[in-house]
Amino acid sequence: FERVEKLTGRRLKQEKLNKKKQKSGGFESMDLPPDIFRAIKRKGYRLPTPIQRKAIPVISTGVDVVAMARTGSGKTAAFVVPVLAALQKHSLRNGARALILAPTRELALQTFAVTRDMAKFTDLRLCALVGGDSMEMQFEDLANNPDVIVATPGRVLHHTNEIESFSLRLVEKVVLDEADRLLEMGFQEQLSEIMKKVSQSRQTLLFSATLPSALAEFVKVGLREPRVIRLDSEM
Ligand code: ADP
Ligand code: MG
Repeated sequence: FERVEKLTGRRLKQEKLNKKKQKSGGFESMDLPPDIFRAIKRKGYRLPTPIQRKAIPVISTGVDVVAMARTGSGKTAAFVVPVLAALQKHSLRNGARALILAPTRELALQTFAVTRDMAKFTDLRLCALVGGDSMEMQFEDLANNPDVIVATPGRVLHHTNEIESFSLRLVEKVVLDEADRLLEMGFQEQLSEIMKKVSQSRQTLLFSATLPSALAEFVKVGLREPRVIRLDSEM
């Protein structure tokens, strides 16, 4: 009898915990496709970080977002998860539908690794286009018709100019990661050029640790009525 009671007690505790998780905005409360939820768990993320808790539900509604939170706060998954979820929900394969831009080869490759982990159980195809890698290999990757491209601005522009059949016009999600650094490093013109090539009804997501005035200006022209999410106080 004691043992039954113990078990019931444990089950009740577990149920309470589950309910608490859903209420407190765990990943399970975010209505994510099972394949992506599974990848999050496989990656060992038990609870969303504050920026993920705030940004994922807002991004999932399809609006433009400017999100600011310090380095190390988990910004990558905050955009990778809802972007992959959106593509997975409307699967249709005839060209890249998401473009994630980062300022350096290293940052783009880091983001690519996270994207690959999160897409592991989906049938989405990914491709990294960064400087320093062989163009030949990237041509091959592009011929595979990727759904998601993670790139540095120079390299992706180069490919759009080189390869006639490669276009960004179906890109409906654009992420500017480390946007403050993208501008600091002088990518402004290239970014504007890229923005002209993607779908004009796109959703644009801008992630940054800081919002210098040049970036605020860029937001004004590049984004449509963005929701601003700031997390400096909680950090
Ligand atoms: P940022 O882009 O804000 O600098 P990252 O996305 O690089 O931060 O994440 C920083 C670290 O936190 C990474 O090692 C990442 O794997 C880890 N991380 C992100 N989200 C979670 C989470 N929900 N649970 C546990 N670890 C996480
Ligand atoms: Mg980052």
